Amino acid sequence: MNNFAYIGMGSNIEIREDHLLLGLKELDNDKQITVKNVSSIYETVPVGYLEQQDFLNMVVEISTTYTPEQLIKITQKIESKAKRNTPVRWGPRTLDLDILLYNQENIKMEDLTIPHPRMSERSFVIVPLMEINPQLILPHEQKTVSEIYRRLLDKEGVRVWKMNSGVGEYGLFGN
Ligand code: ADP
Ligand code: MG
Repeated sequence: MNNFAYIGMGSNIEIREDHLLLGLKELDNDKQITVKNVSSIYETVPVGYLEQQDFLNMVVEISTTYTPEQLIKITQKIESKAKRNTPVRWGPRTLDLDILLYNQENIKMEDLTIPHPRMSERSFVIVPLMEINPQLILPHEQKTVSEIYRRLLDKEGVRVWKMNSGVGEYGLFGN
């Protein structure tokens, strides 16, 4: 499991927490993925399309033997399992999984950009990431998460909804 990656998850269709937990379970059930660390669950005011329910967001650190191309197929499969239904861009969604980082790689393919292109502006990504790894370097900016965090303007839109008490809380012990 020598590759590490960070996955951002979000849901704003009830039951929001169940959708995040389904995402977590699906990741951990995969033999080629081990969930290493989880952030708290945050409640966040929607960005972009504002006339919708608040999101729950969390960030998960994994180790994996998948390549980035394989990993995106897996996360998309998990999204469709959660019956992802997105009639409006940035509108309501059952479960959204974004690959934020994969090792320290910069990847640009037709349907996959890593680091995720919008992650540095998104408090709902940076705030949970700050909780689990403030020293992590974002390779596209050559800055640490904590440097990015310091210049974020809308952090107050992201508040802890359920405090992190470790992967054991979710009954995850790797595989
Ligand atoms: P957002 O990425 O802002 O959450 P969407 O989830 O609607 O918006 O975008 C989904 C599309 O983004 C997919 O078609 C997927 O191929 C593409 N994509 C590109 N890079 C990534 C990435 N790192 N993680 C997830 N999806 C990505
Ligand atoms: Mg997405």
